Amino acid sequence: MPETDADLFGMTWEQAGEAIDEADIAVLPTGSIEQHSTHLPVSTDTLRADHLTAELVDAATDFDLELLRLPTLQYGVSEHHMPFPGTITLSRETYMDVVVEIGECMAEHGAERLLFLNCHGGNKEPLSMAADRLGRDTDLTVHYVHWTDYGREALEEEFGDGWGHAGDHETSFVELYRPDLVRSEKKTPQEAREMPDTSSYEYFSDVTELGGLGDPTNSDADALEPIVESTTEDILEAIKADIDAGW
Ligand SMILES: [Zn+2]
Repeated sequence: MPETDADLFGMTWEQAGEAIDEADIAVLPTGSIEQHSTHLPVSTDTLRADHLTAELVDAATDFDLELLRLPTLQYGVSEHHMPFPGTITLSRETYMDVVVEIGECMAEHGAERLLFLNCHGGNKEPLSMAADRLGRDTDLTVHYVHWTDYGREALEEEFGDGWGHAGDHETSFVELYRPDLVRSEKKTPQEAREMPDTSSYEYFSDVTELGGLGDPTNSDADALEPIVESTTEDILEAIKADIDAGW
């Protein structure tokens, strides 16, 4: 896991108490353990959550914010990837309960703000519901950011809009942060059916045989680096603006 100066993971309870008091926002990074085709590890989204949160914590001081990183919630909601071995999913209900209970603990310890930094699409709905519930039932103010929503425009400019699960942009992320975990010899354009417009699909294996979408051979970690930097700044700016506006 990448290090930051403000990681709950390595603190004693005395240090944690101080850090929670001092921090403007505690951040819960959320990922998944789910297949990412034959060239990326099942931890891809969790790795992104780990590293992108570290970027956020380190850049926050430029925005006059102090962030405290909580240990990453590695498991997510990945039912639609279950036909692929190695995928481990929580049900939506369990996931929401876990996130709410983490939030309740932080509220009990006196945290005022909690941010979900999410890096997996399947978590979006239960996270948003958990944020609502925590906001109503505790004294916490909950911020919720799906990282890709903030990076989407820049990612599409660089990689085109054919990007997708385990495709060029996600492959670039893992190559940037953990190149040792990319099976480069397995990178190949992913053959996939068109996603249906109106019909639901049961499993990702109905759409793609290898498990991915897009073309990971177009990955480019160097091009991704400035996108990470600017997206990190955009997210911090948005959070700062909400706080300044009295939220
Ligand atoms: Zn992913």
